[in-house]
Amino acid sequence: MYLCLVKKGVYYILVFVLLMTIGTMVYSYWDKLTSLWQDPERFKNLVLDATQLSQLTFKVILIGLMLSTAAVLIDLMSLGWKKSGLRRLIINPSGSAKIDLWCYFLSVFKIYEVLYFVLTMGVFYFVAGLFSKFMNVNLSQYISNVYLQFVFVFVLTDFKHYIGHRFMHIRPFWELHAYHHSADEFNLLTTTRGHLVEAGFYYLFTGLFFALLGVPAMSIFLVYGFREFYQYLLHSDVNWKLGIVGKVLLISPAAHKLHHSINEKDYNKNYSTFFIWWDLLFGTYQAPTADYVIGIEDNPYNKVGFLKGQWIGIKRFLKLKD
Ligand SMILES: [Zn+2]
Ligand SMILES: [Zn+2]
Repeated sequence: MYLCLVKKGVYYILVFVLLMTIGTMVYSYWDKLTSLWQDPERFKNLVLDATQLSQLTFKVILIGLMLSTAAVLIDLMSLGWKKSGLRRLIINPSGSAKIDLWCYFLSVFKIYEVLYFVLTMGVFYFVAGLFSKFMNVNLSQYISNVYLQFVFVFVLTDFKHYIGHRFMHIRPFWELHAYHHSADEFNLLTTTRGHLVEAGFYYLFTGLFFALLGVPAMSIFLVYGFREFYQYLLHSDVNWKLGIVGKVLLISPAAHKLHHSINEKDYNKNYSTFFIWWDLLFGTYQAPTADYVIGIEDNPYNKVGFLKGQWIGIKRFLKLKD
């Protein structure tokens, strides 16, 4: 009863904060917002920046395609054609694989960012902008060595992913993250499967960390390249445990599969998405011991299309049950 009241309290605080943010945004930026309509060029630039379409070049798309292709080939060589993710994606794909394919194309061509920006009406973009305006600490400026700067940014960005991921496992945010966990098979592209509103929350965490770190452009490029490649492998069925490396350095594909386990006793373990240190440090590590069945209970997502699934996620997040 008490716990229920606390949960309800957290929920109402959340709705209140959200409404206050929208209110403040509209009130303080009313003149700017209305003047935007009279200046189409500025409006266009703002949308391009907010949706990250301004960074979308042929090179960026090509690198994204190459990273995923390399991971697909490693999976194919390791598992053979019959068990490969590639076969499951192109020969009679399951409902789960079809959703993953949708998410992959939306994310490689950055349509994801456009959709989440439109869906959340720029609220996350606005709040992230406040972080960089009022909290511009720029810690990386104190490190003069460019390699050390890269390591610093890489490690802290990874920590940001751990915190963000752990946060998304708390209700009601879990209802959004559950969309990622609703995959009932791994085919590498599962990494791109995510709810559009969840992307907004990650954008906030990123905004906060960038304001703290003041990340140099080259570091971002390398960090994201490394991470993206590894995320494909984490969502492949190779089930590697990586020996000692998987115990002290990197989260292994087998350990991430445990994170996706449908079995309640495996819940809330292995949140790390690159270095395993965070799970070891915060006591959330569990060594993988089997080939786990993945997915979530009460899973409507693989039976419906992408947009319907997104809508179901929003309804569950806002507790508007079917
Ligand atoms: Zn998770
Ligand atoms: Zn995952």
